[in-house]
Amino acid sequence: MPDRPVVTRIAPSPTGSMHIGTARTALFNWLYARHTGGKFLLRVEDTDRERSTQAAVEVIFDGMKWLGLEADEPPVFQAARADRHRAAVEDLLAKGEAYRDYMTAEELEAERETARAEGRVVRSPWRDIARNDAPDRPFVVRLKSPLTGDTVVADKVKGDIRFQNKDLDDLILLRTDGSPTYNLAVVVDDHDMGVTHVIRGDDHLNNAARQTLIYKALGWEVPVWAHLPLIHGPDGAKLSKRHGAQAVSEFDSMGYLPEAMRNYLARLGWGHGDDEIFTDAQAISWFDIVDVVSAPARLDWAKLNHINNHYIRQADISRLADLVTAIHESRDLKVPAALRQVLERTIPLVRDGAKTLLDLADSTVFVLTPRPLAMPEKAAGLLTEETRGRLNRLRDRLAAATTWDVPSLEGEIRAFAESEGVGIGKFGQALRVCLAGVASAPDLAGALTALGQEESLGRLHDALSPAA
Ligand code: GLU
Repeated sequence: MPDRPVVTRIAPSPTGSMHIGTARTALFNWLYARHTGGKFLLRVEDTDRERSTQAAVEVIFDGMKWLGLEADEPPVFQAARADRHRAAVEDLLAKGEAYRDYMTAEELEAERETARAEGRVVRSPWRDIARNDAPDRPFVVRLKSPLTGDTVVADKVKGDIRFQNKDLDDLILLRTDGSPTYNLAVVVDDHDMGVTHVIRGDDHLNNAARQTLIYKALGWEVPVWAHLPLIHGPDGAKLSKRHGAQAVSEFDSMGYLPEAMRNYLARLGWGHGDDEIFTDAQAISWFDIVDVVSAPARLDWAKLNHINNHYIRQADISRLADLVTAIHESRDLKVPAALRQVLERTIPLVRDGAKTLLDLADSTVFVLTPRPLAMPEKAAGLLTEETRGRLNRLRDRLAAATTWDVPSLEGEIRAFAESEGVGIGKFGQALRVCLAGVASAPDLAGALTALGQEESLGRLHDALSPAA
């Protein structure tokens, strides 16, 4: 393939959502461009004017931005290039590589019938009729494809796929209204954008044969093909709604971090030995399109959660606090500026157990809930006379504490249990309920540390005062 620098592209059609398979295709194109020091481009295939609303186009931009896969040049819009597509067809007509087909709908139907009966593809008589015989009626423009020989798609993932030319009909390039067809537009756009490697879903494999014929007719260099297997659900069926999520935005709202998605998606169909977790830089240095496997990849929620947990544990606290705040606020739980610091202090204490940002948000609710807390039903059973007395003594001890962090509070609790001659189990659960109410909370020292001394003592006071 070309000595030119590598140019890859993602070419989504705006449908109103961005499928996770499109995200993975974008990622592989991005990785390959970065790996080779080439360029990664974005083309919006917006020829379906009804579906291609501004909002649907924004979904693509937002998805790419969220995934951190920004293109190296401004996006190309396919619909705006229809004149250029038509000009390419004029070129083909002039060279005798395409022809105007004036078959009427009835004639086409009759030819379809005959072709079916004879076990061949549709052929138009206009392929061989000189122009000056042309009638004055609507026509389509078809490619004058070779009738014999083979077209080989030398695919980097699938290997050589051979198509017999006799099985490929003369594909339509322009419809009767003069509008360009999909295969024509893709070829002209990819050529004009300088695309060297077409990396996309394997649902486009058949199109690759047809597009190869168009490239050849135009006298253009055929790009390198790499068709990626689809992503399946955990049960092996094509990924769909019932598998839990399929749109990029759904993974975002389920609390997955974009860097976790990049890492996880990279492993769907590609891998570097057994490495499960790797940085973008590692993926870029290791990625090669020839290492993509041709069998469909299955979405594995447990693996995704594991990877997401890893990135949550690594992420910058202030970024996590922003993300968690947005989740709380979307659930009508305000995070007042005064509690920002408390939230930031809490996150490192609870994040080890969080598979998603939603988990992380859930486990920080307890510090944000204003006093007095709602008590769970079991509180009454836990807060017996004896336990109240004990927690009051613990409260006095905590009020006197001069350092307030996890190790010292663990020490305080242990020493207190010893002085009372009981195990921590005797009062631990009651203490937790006093501190967190119905919300979940980390271990005792973690909860106390997160809340801070004054708030912890206040909550204990609320729960232990006679009116409670
Ligand atoms: N617009 C096509 C799609 O969304 C992609 C075409 C291509 O990558 O060549 O499936």
